[in-house]
Amino acid sequence: MPHSTLTPPIVRRRLRWGFVATVVVLTLLIGGKLLHVFDNPRAGNVAYALALGAAVYDVLILVTSIRYWRRRALETEGQLCLNCGYILAGLPDSDACPDCGRQYVMDDTRSTWLQWCETPRTEQ
Ligand SMILES: [Zn+2]
Repeated sequence: MPHSTLTPPIVRRRLRWGFVATVVVLTLLIGGKLLHVFDNPRAGNVAYALALGAAVYDVLILVTSIRYWRRRALETEGQLCLNCGYILAGLPDSDACPDCGRQYVMDDTRSTWLQWCETPRTEQ
């Protein structure tokens, strides 16, 4: 992901599960091929079903978490904790997040979220 340095940590953590699911899919498909699992109809079907389930999960998590955080960031004008997603609207310009305790500077927080929202990506 070329925009990973701009991606808020809360989003990055959610997307990590999508990455895990991708690894599961590839492992099942490549491993299954190498171990000739697909030559056995029953084991082959189980491997296909697991790979398909992980692939569906992967797509869902990518689409839903990006959409969700994008909408939330736009609704709050980027006033969300980058670490945990807590809504910082109405709080001082720089302080510790009341939810996770991470220090924030509102201007930086806002520009990181809004820049991330503006970054074009294919998953949308
Ligand atoms: Zn927080």
